[in-house]
Amino acid sequence: MQLERLRNIGVVAHIDAGKTTVSERLLFESGVEHRIGQVDEGTAVMDWMAEERERGITITSAATTLPWREHSINLIDTPGHVDFGIEVERCVRVLDGAVLVVDAVAGVQAQTETVWRQLARHHMPALVFVNKCDRVGADFLAALESVRRRLGARPVAVQLPLMEDGGLRGVVDVIERRAWLAPPAEGEPAPEVDVPAHLADDVTLLRAELVEVLSETDDGILAAALEEREVAPEALRAALRARTLDGSLLPALCGAALRHVGIPRLLDAIVDWLPSPLDVPPVRGRSPEDGAPLERAPDPEGPLCAYLFKLQAEASGDLFFLRVYSGRLAQGASTWNPRLRRHERVTRLYRVHSGARTALEVAGPGEIVAVHGPKQSVTGDTLCDPAHPILLEGLVAAEPVLSLVAEPANTADRDKLRAALARLAREDPSFHQVEDESTGQWTLSGMGELHLEVVLHRLRDEFRVEARTGAPRVAYREALRATSRGAARVERVLGGKEVFGAVELEVEPRPEHSAGVEVVWAPDCPVPQAFRAAVAEALVGAAQVGPRFGFPLAGATLRVVGGESHPRLDAEVGFTQAAVGALRKALESARVDLLEPLMAFTIDAPAEFSSGILADLNARKAAVDRVEARGGQRELGGTVPLFHMFGYATAVRSLSQGRAGFAMTPAGHRAVPEAELEARGLTWG
Ligand code: GDP
Ligand code: MG
Repeated sequence: MQLERLRNIGVVAHIDAGKTTVSERLLFESGVEHRIGQVDEGTAVMDWMAEERERGITITSAATTLPWREHSINLIDTPGHVDFGIEVERCVRVLDGAVLVVDAVAGVQAQTETVWRQLARHHMPALVFVNKCDRVGADFLAALESVRRRLGARPVAVQLPLMEDGGLRGVVDVIERRAWLAPPAEGEPAPEVDVPAHLADDVTLLRAELVEVLSETDDGILAAALEEREVAPEALRAALRARTLDGSLLPALCGAALRHVGIPRLLDAIVDWLPSPLDVPPVRGRSPEDGAPLERAPDPEGPLCAYLFKLQAEASGDLFFLRVYSGRLAQGASTWNPRLRRHERVTRLYRVHSGARTALEVAGPGEIVAVHGPKQSVTGDTLCDPAHPILLEGLVAAEPVLSLVAEPANTADRDKLRAALARLAREDPSFHQVEDESTGQWTLSGMGELHLEVVLHRLRDEFRVEARTGAPRVAYREALRATSRGAARVERVLGGKEVFGAVELEVEPRPEHSAGVEVVWAPDCPVPQAFRAAVAEALVGAAQVGPRFGFPLAGATLRVVGGESHPRLDAEVGFTQAAVGALRKALESARVDLLEPLMAFTIDAPAEFSSGILADLNARKAAVDRVEARGGQRELGGTVPLFHMFGYATAVRSLSQGRAGFAMTPAGHRAVPEAELEARGLTWG
């Protein structure tokens, strides 16, 4: 496949803005047969998810290929709900560009803003599709204003809704000065007509604006503008492509997916302005041996480098979705997984259309394919050429914020539950599961109430295991207030053999409280090299149980500063036991804070509900740091302990008669005030 004819794109939107409808229409318009409505992911939990399942998501897989103007567009399914932040993140990793769908009445909404921040972090080129222009109160230019203000992005109108007699009739193209009407019937082409006289002035104005913006960087357009010459559409399109790719502009289109208005032009825009794999910087990674930075350009002759972004458990075995970044991946290839340090064979290779797959012999750079074969790889892994290993940046999974205790409803189902949970955790790096063999229970952790609910529904519906669960609670962690030290020495006879080990440890709090624990070695540390990996593993395991309440230790550096070595007696088990003993000693006397997850929230609500919502947020101990008025709407932002936000999605709905939008993402941790511990049932244990 010619790389410049490939587009890997995702559609992102606030729930209900029309992501599903737009995606369906893109498939339909491109001629892909697509009425296959089996939802494998949208396990219904909340009302909107239930609705989605009933309608049937037409994109049943992670990626769907659709043809347009001799190009291939891979439409990658990005989940809309922010509980699935990691899902968005892993999709964003394989996207080259995005279509941002904005509701023409509501403008940019809370979840769009959250997802946009993720896109912006990756400098993702994007275009805006203002959908639902047929609705009463639709305002294309106001929606663009909200993109400017809320996303800090710079949209530029290349279209205008064609309104007549108060209704949407089609779209007007500012660059071509042409108009396309709504198709007379589903499946028929959109008739092309002249710009209606009543819109001529608007088009002239918007075109002048476009010329002005593009002349900032394009000398040809600047010269034409100064000489008051008409700028050719080709010149405008080329300049706009450059500005979209460098992220300084977002072409803005309009339409109404439900009425098939604007969809062919949206496909044109994807081809014209969003990047091909050749337009994006080489993928970056590290050498698994020495950590040195490495890059892979999209070169079919280069060494294989592919990124595994989704795993789908199926009856016939796990199906892996991956993007090839360089080299060629052929059926039967033996690839290297540098994280596992093992070979993974690719037995079958497929191109995925909606609902169907076609076998492929080989896939090259930029392509998104599905494969069978790998045994132990998980989402976020790299598969590469064994002779040229590279480790792509792993997924930065945020720490889980919520957990619950689960056990099989029927003890005979224990093995089934274990297998199902292991499989779910392999699919989703933000879902964690830990079995406690002494109680026969599991602790399941994830990114929010919805995330865990989806897991439980999938257990029941897909894996057919009933689990009994406790109420979800926030995932607490324990953090040291100051550095402390401990030492331990093991000298014993084990199985008739003398074993020795001695470790001195310093435990130092890290300021960010982020992530878990990190083991480092002082330069003159006498612990033998051969045992260090085992010692580090033992320490990380022991740090899962904090000294105060037994929650995992957070944000600590475990520095092995000393010990002893007696080469004749030194034993791995001696050193691992000594290390764990030294950690216990260090923590014994340590002063510890209990940390709780903090969330950043954004709420949009009609003004008349905002005081009620604010009063309620106050009662939840939220720090509100932003209240902005936009016409009759209010936007509230701030941070709040997750502990106080259980059931908030329902609460905010009833506080606003269902009219408030709400999004919440992890924003670090804070120490729980000592005075609150007892009320939460937490006392010195
Ligand atoms: P998603 O939640 O972003 O996937 O949005 P959906 O595609 O499920 O659409 C949400 C609702 O908006 C559905 O009831 C759609 O029928 C409706 N909808 C989608 N596009 C349009 C449109 O262009 N005009 C109007 N009036 N409604 C639309
Ligand atoms: Mg949808």
